[in-house]
Amino acid sequence: MPELPEVEILARDLHSQLTSAAFTQVEILWPRSVATPDPTTFCRQLCGKAVLAVGRRGKFIVVSLSGPSFLLIHLRMSGQLRMVDRADAIDPHCRAVFHLADGRRLDFSDTRKFGRLYWLEDATKVLAMLGPEPLDKGFAVEELASLLSRRKGALKPLLLDQRVLAGLGNIYTDEVLFEAGLHPMRRVNTLTGQEITHLYQSIQHVLQQAIVNRGTTLGDARFRDTMGRAGQNGEYLQVYQRSGRPCVRCGTPIQREVIGGRGSHFCPQCQPLAGG
Ligand SMILES: [Zn+2]
Repeated sequence: MPELPEVEILARDLHSQLTSAAFTQVEILWPRSVATPDPTTFCRQLCGKAVLAVGRRGKFIVVSLSGPSFLLIHLRMSGQLRMVDRADAIDPHCRAVFHLADGRRLDFSDTRKFGRLYWLEDATKVLAMLGPEPLDKGFAVEELASLLSRRKGALKPLLLDQRVLAGLGNIYTDEVLFEAGLHPMRRVNTLTGQEITHLYQSIQHVLQQAIVNRGTTLGDARFRDTMGRAGQNGEYLQVYQRSGRPCVRCGTPIQREVIGGRGSHFCPQCQPLAGG
């Protein structure tokens, strides 16, 4: 599933590729891909709209349109966005086709069909439930400490909760916790100030490194950028999908456990559960 870094790459690509382009026609090939409004209204509303900017909020791509209004795209498990030319063939898993006035197309493909498209006059209707952006300049260690101080329970499920912090998914949560030396089941209310600082720094570093490496391309729902290129960050992962292989720090085999319904990878030596 694309997480903050992959969605950031797509949003940056689309910002340079789509800004000042206009939609002439939208075809919906799988009606359930449209979350709101109904597919007919969705197509009618997008038709003729110009793209003012493309950004990201959590794992949503936010396309600001003339009007003003907003096209939101959530890729979920396997959604992909590809900029192609009018003459290019349409992928068999394509769910929506956005035709542009200059002859290009933006194709939304989605093998698993969980991805969703939204057209809204007010984007906060969907985005207001999200927690803060971890890479925002205003997001300081004190804010993370305050978010955690109001919670109980295990650390990993909390970091995955988009209402607490926006953008982290399974891959980067495992990587962040390894870098911070924290067990995924660690109780949040036992973290020391020093551990929270280390967690904060690890979130910043892991996400920024993944953006520099243009995302992680792994698994059956492979991430691609809008030109179809794979990300390079898979080479930098230290625990994710490395179960049984030696820890890069201490050599102990990486362990995999299902935590909160998600396969979780960690080093039992470098990330002990005891402590605090
Ligand atoms: Zn280790």
